[in-house]
Amino acid sequence: KVRVRFAPSPTGPLHMGGVRTALYNYLFAKKHGGDFILRIEDTDQTRFVDGAEDYIIESLKWCGIMPNEGQGIGGDFGPYKQSERKEADIYRPYAMQLVENGHAYYAFDTPDDLTNMREMAKKAKMPNWQYNSITRGSMKNSISLSSDEVRAKLEAGDPYTIRIKMPRNEDVRFHDVIRGWVTVNTNNLDDKVIFKSDGMPTYHLANIVDDHLMEISHVIRGEEWLPSAPLHVLLYRFLGWEDTMPLFAHLPLLLKPDGNGKLSKRDGDRLGFPVFPLEWKDPKTGEVSSGYREKGYFAESFINMLAFLGWNPGTPQEIFSLEELVDAFTLERVSKSGAKFDPDKTKWFNQHYLRAKSNEELAQLLSERIEGDYSLEFLAGVAEMMKERASFVDEMLEGKYFFERPQEFDAKTVRKKWKEQTPEIMKELISVYEQATDWKAETLEAIFKQFLSDKELGMGAVLPNFRVLVTGLGMGPSMFAICELLGKEETIARMKIGIE
Ligand code: GLU
Repeated sequence: KVRVRFAPSPTGPLHMGGVRTALYNYLFAKKHGGDFILRIEDTDQTRFVDGAEDYIIESLKWCGIMPNEGQGIGGDFGPYKQSERKEADIYRPYAMQLVENGHAYYAFDTPDDLTNMREMAKKAKMPNWQYNSITRGSMKNSISLSSDEVRAKLEAGDPYTIRIKMPRNEDVRFHDVIRGWVTVNTNNLDDKVIFKSDGMPTYHLANIVDDHLMEISHVIRGEEWLPSAPLHVLLYRFLGWEDTMPLFAHLPLLLKPDGNGKLSKRDGDRLGFPVFPLEWKDPKTGEVSSGYREKGYFAESFINMLAFLGWNPGTPQEIFSLEELVDAFTLERVSKSGAKFDPDKTKWFNQHYLRAKSNEELAQLLSERIEGDYSLEFLAGVAEMMKERASFVDEMLEGKYFFERPQEFDAKTVRKKWKEQTPEIMKELISVYEQATDWKAETLEAIFKQFLSDKELGMGAVLPNFRVLVTGLGMGPSMFAICELLGKEETIARMKIGIE
């Protein structure tokens, strides 16, 4: 059975790359009738950030890609938060098993010892010092010390870490669904700490133990974890779980819009677009970073855009609902190379989804974003006229004249079109319109055209002035539709005020 997990660390708000990882996991799970699990990886308590876990769950909810099992949801494989799993002492037996099998060892070096060692190595012009098969013999650990010394240290309660005993000069080979075969020689890997004496596993051990116990079938995660994968493969092997080892799929990086390097959390507001799904206020600095939701993006367009950052369906179709993405998605069509983020394309998607909505839906959204008492019917009329000109709900409110009388008049129109005789013409137009019995756009247009031919006037001499009186602007949607929506009384009142 397909079981995949999204395993974020609550070290801050979820970045859009993280949401993409969650999305691909979701799509893959749904496509195969599998489970999508949320696991919180909070083994590194020093990097824990208040509010991050809630933020993650709220983001997934907003995107419509909620896990069906996991933290905040429940399920048969809980708890789903590693700090709680540590409390249940789930990890220790596996660390001990590795020690007993000779694949891991106790290390008693203090943080100071390690710093000193690195300093010495740097002075000796060996800046890449690693704790590994070559150096471990000169460190304080259960390989270099006698078994009596080790026992004494353990009995005395000396703090220790457990390190993996990385084999010397061995090729670790595994298959990645996206990258194909990957081979790494163990000489390039170090003896990573997998467990600490306070009972806390490090990311690597916890991740493998949990993926195994939670019966994860596919590990779909960001490329930054590819270098850790050989260690993970070895851990599966050393724990005797190679047969059920999940398949790996490492997703390409998200790149900055100019293609120059990885899109980072810091790029967002600095470059003028959000990198977070929801607005985030840093609990320490109080600094606020913008979010797609608050900027007025629809979750559907955000998701549609994200899906295309590293995947394509192999057809020209670009607009996909979540269900359509589920149908079309395959890991085989995920690309190996980095995906350039394109803010303009993101707006384009939003514009598409905005136009695809009914006027009634848009009216509802407008009513949530505007102060004042407007009927949904009136707002639906605004939406009808403005949606072709907007990419965001808020941009539909840029037609301020729907909601208030013009405070000023477009200078260019006034300069070019407002002539000496214009007030007289407008007065005559007012009296024609005052007699109108029906206030529909077609009727108003017919009256207007009749007026032009009666007075032998051109469109250009009258319409711009009529528009500027009623809306204050030089351009906009159909004047007659605007007038219909504003109603007779308001239209005429504005014209009268304007001429004065
Ligand atoms: N906790 C890791 C992260 O924050 C998860 C890596 C993985 O999926 O294995 O990205």
